[in-house]
Parts: sequence; structure tokens; C-alpha cells
Amino acid sequence: MSNEAEGGCQCGGVRFRLMAAPRRVYCCHCTECRRQSAAAFGVSVIVPVDGVAVLQGQPKTWARPTASGGSLVCAFCPDCGSRLWHKAADCLSVKGGALDTVPEPTAHIWLGSKLDWVVIPEGVERWDGEPDTE
Ligand SMILES: [Zn+2]
Ligand SMILES: [Zn+2]
Repeated sequence: MSNEAEGGCQCGGVRFRLMAAPRRVYCCHCTECRRQSAAAFGVSVIVPVDGVAVLQGQPKTWARPTASGGSLVCAFCPDCGSRLWHKAADCLSVKGGALDTVPEPTAHIWLGSKLDWVVIPEGVERWDGEPDTE
């Protein structure tokens, strides 16, 4: 995968670049991703915590508590509201649709809450909930 993948928000006010190759790319079928993305599932591109450089604009952040007792810092464009990435203690989860080129997923996760009509391709890695991290 490219080290120079760029992305941005819907209005173009915020632009960023991935500074590291993605560790994993998940299609996440959890209810948080569904609500957050206002779509049937989310695409999460996992990079190191310092794996994003802002090229233009200034994202705003909002934090929400996680099920494990931590906190997730969510970055978004202050003008158009597009969600850009989520920062956890040990990684950044970049919203796949914010990237100019959306990478192919390496796994589908949280299949326990997947919508019935979403069909998962044969042969891809599957997790009913949160995947084990390496
Ligand atoms: Zn924007
Ligand atoms: Zn999710």
C-alpha cells in the first residue's frame, strides 16, 4: 500500500496524508460506526498514533468514552462535519471514505451486528466482534 495516501473532508477544507502504511483495514459493522458514518458500515484504516499529518485546515475534535473504559478522540472538519479519524491510546483509525483512494479491507469485524442484507465476500477474514490485535 502507498505511504503517501492523501485524504480530506467533503468540503476540502481539511486535507491530510498518511505517514505510515496501514497496519490493517477493517470493514466495521458495529452500531457506532453505522451511526457515525451514517452508512451501513464503516471502513477503518489503522495506522500508528502519529500516522497522520494535517496538510491543510484544522480539524476539531470530540471525545467519547469507550466500552473498555478509555476515551476515543474523534477528529472532524469544523465546516462540513466530515469525520476524519479516531485516535485511541495505541493507534489511529482513519475513516476509509475520507481517503482519496479507499484501500481494500483485510477483514470484516463486528459481524454480530451486521445488517442482514450486507453480504461478506467469500474467503475474507471475519470477526464476530473486536479482532485480536497483533
Ligand atoms: Zn470540510
Ligand atoms: Zn465499528
